[in-house]
Amino acid sequence: MKQHIFLSSPHMSEEGYEKKFIEEAFETNWIAPLGKNVTEFEKEMTEKLGAGKAVALSAGTAAIHMALKSIGVSQGDVVFCQSLTFSATANPIVYEKATPVFIDSENDTWNMSPQALEQAFQKYERIQKKPKAVIVVHLYGICARIGEIAEICRRYQVPLIEDAAESLGSIYCGKYTGTFGDYGIISFNGNKIITSSGGGMLLVNTQDAAEKAEKVLYWATQAREPARWYQHTEIGYNYRMSNIVAGIGRGQLKVLDQRVEKKRYILDYYKKHLGDLQGMHFMPEPNDTYCNCWLSVIQLDGDCAVKPLDIMKALEEEDAESRPVWKPMHLQPVFADCDFISQIDDLHIVNGETGADHSVSGQLFEHGVCLPSDSKMTDEDLNRICSAVRRLWEKPI
Ligand SMILES: *Cc1c(COP(=O)(O)O)cnc(C)c1O
Repeated sequence: MKQHIFLSSPHMSEEGYEKKFIEEAFETNWIAPLGKNVTEFEKEMTEKLGAGKAVALSAGTAAIHMALKSIGVSQGDVVFCQSLTFSATANPIVYEKATPVFIDSENDTWNMSPQALEQAFQKYERIQKKPKAVIVVHLYGICARIGEIAEICRRYQVPLIEDAAESLGSIYCGKYTGTFGDYGIISFNGNKIITSSGGGMLLVNTQDAAEKAEKVLYWATQAREPARWYQHTEIGYNYRMSNIVAGIGRGQLKVLDQRVEKKRYILDYYKKHLGDLQGMHFMPEPNDTYCNCWLSVIQLDGDCAVKPLDIMKALEEEDAESRPVWKPMHLQPVFADCDFISQIDDLHIVNGETGADHSVSGQLFEHGVCLPSDSKMTDEDLNRICSAVRRLWEKPI
C-alpha cells in the first residue's frame, strides 16, 4: 500500500524534546495558565531570532490582531495589506472595523511589490487618507523585499507588521524575518514548519517594545486590572498560549534548523529531478536571502500543455497532497469591495477586456502549484512524486 504523503504535517523531534517539556509541566502542575514553558519559549525565540520582545499567543491570527490593536487601528482606518496571502493576514483588520487596501505582488519575490506599495501611499496621500499600518507577508518562506518596504514605511511614518507565519527561519541579509517590522508575527499551526499543535507569537521590535508587549499581554489575558476583584477598564481577549502548548513549541524550536534543512533539501530534490521540464519554474530565492522553503511551489507557463490541475490530479492518484497557490485577497468574494493596487497601471482595462485577472498575484494563483513538502518524506516518496509529475510531460498531447 502506498503511504499517504502530506503537504506539510506536524513533525515532532526524534529526541522527544516536546514530551520532556510537557512532562515537566505535568510534574509541577503548571498545566495552565501560563508557567515556565511560556516564558522560556518567549525568551528562547527572541534569542534565536534576535527580536525585541515576544508574547506567546493562542494563534498567529491573534498575534496579528494584537499588533493592529497595539498600533491603535480602529474604525474608519485604512490598512495596506499584501493581497497574495492566507486570509488570516487580513481578517484581523476587519475585526477592528478598519478597511484593508490590498497591494499586489512582484514577480521577483512573489511578495508585496515595493513599487505598488509606493503607488498606494501616493494614491491615499492624494485623498488625504494616511494608512494606519502596513502588513507584508513572506509567503511560503520566500523573503519579501523587506529592506525596501521598511524604508518606504519609515519615510511615510507608518508602522510595519511583518507576517512571518510561514517564514520562521528564513533570513534576509543576515537577519531573521519577523525582526524587521515594528511587529512580527509567527504561527505554530499544525501545517507550519514547526508546530505547537496550534499557537502563535507576537514579536515587538520597537524601541518601547517592553511597554508595548506588556500592554498586549494585558489585552490577551482578559484585560484584568491589578485589583483584588475582577476589574476592567478595557475589552479583553482570551489569547494567551497555554503552558502545555508552549512546551511543544520549545521542543520544536530545538529542531527548527533541521526542519529548514530538510525543506530546502525537498525543494532541491524537485529542482534536480524536474528542473528540465518545459514550461515549469520554481519559486524564487532572492539575492541575499535564505529561504526556509516551507512549501515547494512551482509555476507553469500560460502556454504549457500541462495545467496546474493536471499536476494536482496526478498527485491525488499517488495519494499525495498538493494545493493551488493561495488565492489573493482581492479576488475573494468577502473582500470584493476593497481597493487593490497593482504595479500594472491599466489593470482594470486589461481585466475588463478579458475577464481574467492579470495582476501579478492573480497570475501566480492561476499558474501555481504547491507540491508535497512534508519534512517526513523519504527520497522514495519524493521519487514517487517526481515520476508522477514527469509522466504528464511524457504523455503525447
Ligand atoms: C497560518 C498563517 C496565519 C495564521 O496563523 P494561525 O496560527 O493559523 O492563526 C497568518 N498568516 C499566514 C500567511 C499564515 O500562513
